[in-house]
Amino acid sequence: MNLQPLPKLQPITKLSPTMLATLKQCPLRAGLRQAKAQQTTRSSTAALLGTIVHRVLEKARKINSESENLRTQAETMWDKTVVEMEKELQASLLDRCLLPITKWKRYFLSRERTLRRCEEIASKRGTYETQVVASERKFSSITDGFTGKPDLILRRENGLVIIDYKSGELPDDLEDREGKIESWRQQILFYASIVKEEFEEWPVGGEIRLLNTDVIPISIDPTKAEIVLKEAQTLKEEFNANIEAGVPPSGLAQYSIDNCRFCEFKGTCSTFWRENPQPSPGTDEYGCLSGQVLKVTTGKSGKGSMVIISEKSDGSSQEWQISNLSADEFGNLEELNQGTFVRLIDFKIDSDDSYRARPTQNSVIWEVP
Ligand code: SF4
Repeated sequence: MNLQPLPKLQPITKLSPTMLATLKQCPLRAGLRQAKAQQTTRSSTAALLGTIVHRVLEKARKINSESENLRTQAETMWDKTVVEMEKELQASLLDRCLLPITKWKRYFLSRERTLRRCEEIASKRGTYETQVVASERKFSSITDGFTGKPDLILRRENGLVIIDYKSGELPDDLEDREGKIESWRQQILFYASIVKEEFEEWPVGGEIRLLNTDVIPISIDPTKAEIVLKEAQTLKEEFNANIEAGVPPSGLAQYSIDNCRFCEFKGTCSTFWRENPQPSPGTDEYGCLSGQVLKVTTGKSGKGSMVIISEKSDGSSQEWQISNLSADEFGNLEELNQGTFVRLIDFKIDSDDSYRARPTQNSVIWEVP
């Protein structure tokens, strides 16, 4: 099994709340994310989807609030904006392959969230709530290299309020719940500091709005916001000093089940590999799937499929079907001998009942010696 070489890590120049959270968990992952973003020349669908959302919200103030069909008006705005974006992408040789937009990850979720926000904006026009100061606007602190894009900033009677929408839900477990709210609090405090720099006033509060309409108020204490930024500055400086000193990637890696489980670089991270030389068969705590190769076939389309078998804890065995494996991504799979133990990293496992899996953009197949 050969690991692909990691991209050269560079000092961090811009730090967002998401990068800060990643930097705290694993500096290597943060550095790899930055390197990947710098390598990518094609537009990212996530950024383009953000542009569509931004454009629709800008137009939301034009919705006729006297009419009852606010939703229909918002849907028409969304559809028109998507058509405009499709034309722009069609005209770009590099980005044309990103079409159709409706197939993008989180497309329908973003659409639904945006339509709801348009309805909110239109139905509450005239109240303080509708005084939108900024929506999906990127703020940057030039002096410190911090950046952030809060979903919405409103001006209410008592001052500025930062709103951030979250598609996830609060965990049931109390400790996890508090951890989640704390991470959101840190994010709002981070935003508050850079928004204050722009507007020369501290926002008076923040709100996390969940898709199920729950609203979590976040108080903004300027002292705490300054602590968050100070910590961010320290972590950034430490990371950059390590890069300047030539510390190898393994010296930046912070391996743990929680950190690595959702990391998109598991497949190329030598630390993860070193800590997991003999993965357990079946699905594991990292969301990976492992087993022995039973059969590899290549269809007429050139896409391969594979059957692997894993032993369960009760001694019985389970076969898994893995399909849609392109030779461009995974090489000639037919070279894999029957009985080879493989580990499938970052695959989409359809469900534990169907025992099927498909590759994602980050999928890697490891041959385990
Ligand atoms: S796999 Fe784990 S140790 Fe490696 S970069 Fe990702 S989070 Fe860090």
